[in-house]
Amino acid sequence: MANARLSRENCARSPQINRCRVTVALGVAERFRSLKPSATVEMSERVRAARAEGREILGLSSGDPNVRTDARIIDAAERSMRDGATHYSSAAGEPALRAAIVRREAQRSGVVYDPGDIIVTPGGKFAVLTALMGVVGPGDDVIVPQPGWVSYGPCIRLCGGAVVPMPALDTFEIDALESALTPSTRAVIVNSPVNPTGRILTSIEIMKIVELAHSRDFWIIFDQVYADLAFRGAVSYPQRQPGGFERTLVVDSFSKSFGMTGWRLGFLAMPPELSRSVVKFIQHSIYCVPAFIQAGGVKALELADELLPRYRATFRARLDLALEKLAGVKGLSCAPPDAGFFLFPRVDGDDVAIARRWLDDLNLAVLPGSAFGAAGAGHLRVSLSCSDDELDLALDRIARSRLDG
Ligand code: PMP
Repeated sequence: MANARLSRENCARSPQINRCRVTVALGVAERFRSLKPSATVEMSERVRAARAEGREILGLSSGDPNVRTDARIIDAAERSMRDGATHYSSAAGEPALRAAIVRREAQRSGVVYDPGDIIVTPGGKFAVLTALMGVVGPGDDVIVPQPGWVSYGPCIRLCGGAVVPMPALDTFEIDALESALTPSTRAVIVNSPVNPTGRILTSIEIMKIVELAHSRDFWIIFDQVYADLAFRGAVSYPQRQPGGFERTLVVDSFSKSFGMTGWRLGFLAMPPELSRSVVKFIQHSIYCVPAFIQAGGVKALELADELLPRYRATFRARLDLALEKLAGVKGLSCAPPDAGFFLFPRVDGDDVAIARRWLDDLNLAVLPGSAFGAAGAGHLRVSLSCSDDELDLALDRIARSRLDG
């Protein structure tokens, strides 16, 4: 400690301050020590490094769809900025966007929220963190179905909670949820359609989750960020079920629906007694989402009925093509997804080794299924977020590859 102080003082006197290195033994806070980098971000970085070496990598690992934000959305944001929407705005979100979200929610889930119970967030990921900050604290357990999105666990740990994994690969068994419950369970994360499998939970599964949440008293954090990209079957919403509204914190985002990943725009819809408290986290952290970004969101929702069917059709055509091409690949089998732009094929062999080999030998980036939890092992997540040409090339390479070699 004394040494650290001493060398810092020397440092301050030094004309070459930039070259001075001070090592302080205190280190980072405990909450960061256990955090691993996200597997998706890690793979993006490996791909970037390989490309920097001049290798042409076909990217099938990212969750960022190759949809350009519609020009009218960009115009709306630009206009708003030029009109002066460059100041702090309301912490919970601009009234126009919250009203538009209320209308959209009523159209989709049939639930009519009060605009006061909608909180606009910088993306869906921050909506997940905000929801967890609102209801989870040290000593609490949160059940996370697996395979599941890579950021749930770290967000739970950041709130001081513990992750209780629950296997849910092909079905969401209520018995498995019941056996994952502990006396400290505060919440369960429910994601439908699911990243990475593209599966939509059935209405019976959703109904049983809500019933159990009632009888065993826990919150449901419902992540519906892929709901707009559902093309097979209807999404069931826990907030719509009898007794579900008051137990469910809904997480949503503009990222996947409208090709707006870089805008960082999402929202939370909550029961009234939570929203008043949870908004304080926004006030004291980010303060607000930029008003001009929210103006883009209002325009996106205005265009939803025109844009979404088009995006859904594009992804569905890509998925169908990929399923057809992969059908003949020995050692690989794939259930057709209900939504989104991911395939989650089962592979013969070690998924991590196969993903590495595909990157090294085929110049093709996919994610190992075990990155989504132990229940995802033996699978790969293949994201069809690239261009059609890249996808063609990638599928040819996979079709010619040997999984067992
Ligand atoms: N939930 C799930 C299931 C996701 O896959 C993602 C993004 N990959 C998010 C939430 C967050 O998306 P964003 O922060 O871009 O809105």
